[in-house]
Amino acid sequence: MQLNRWNYYSGFVVYPAVILILSALALRAAPDVEWWRCASLLVVGVIAWTLAEYCLHRFVLHHVARIRDLHEAHHRDPQALIGLPTVVGAPVSFILLFAPLWWIGGVALACSLTAGFLLGYAWYLVVHHLLHHRPARKGSLFFALKRRHALHHHVTAEGNFGVTSGIWDRLFRTDIQTHRNAARKRAGTKLVAQ
Ligand SMILES: [Zn+2]
Ligand SMILES: [Zn+2]
Repeated sequence: MQLNRWNYYSGFVVYPAVILILSALALRAAPDVEWWRCASLLVVGVIAWTLAEYCLHRFVLHHVARIRDLHEAHHRDPQALIGLPTVVGAPVSFILLFAPLWWIGGVALACSLTAGFLLGYAWYLVVHHLLHHRPARKGSLFFALKRRHALHHHVTAEGNFGVTSGIWDRLFRTDIQTHRNAARKRAGTKLVAQ
């Protein structure tokens, strides 16, 4: 969805603020000795986000009618301020994630996991923005991420769905490099066999 500057950049402030509030609430709710449990759940939340990022991009943004049209607008114009408005994303994450987790496991679990998930999401917002708005130094990790995402934009939209990480693409064999290497290997094997 095309956003105005205020709506687009508000996510860079609102989500970190929510993460800090949730982390403070989790630590207050947990007994002193269990801070490490909150920290572990936060890490689990971040990992859960990377999987959600992959699945949402692969199965929702590229395949659900209307949402696909909005995402294609980003593919056509990567530098346009397109995204999910914070006024929609934040309440949705509370309804679909925080509330059920609170009901299942209590306030410390809900706050820790949601904080981790939103930390992953906030990191995604920053990384995806920089990928399209900042140059990268050749050989850097950022250059590798930028290249991965550029392949998704310009070579085939059926691969490299992970933006902040390529782990799930490699695991589910949608890594564009993997496809190419496999094709090269197959071609090489054929040549050797001939
Ligand atoms: Zn992009
Ligand atoms: Zn895409």
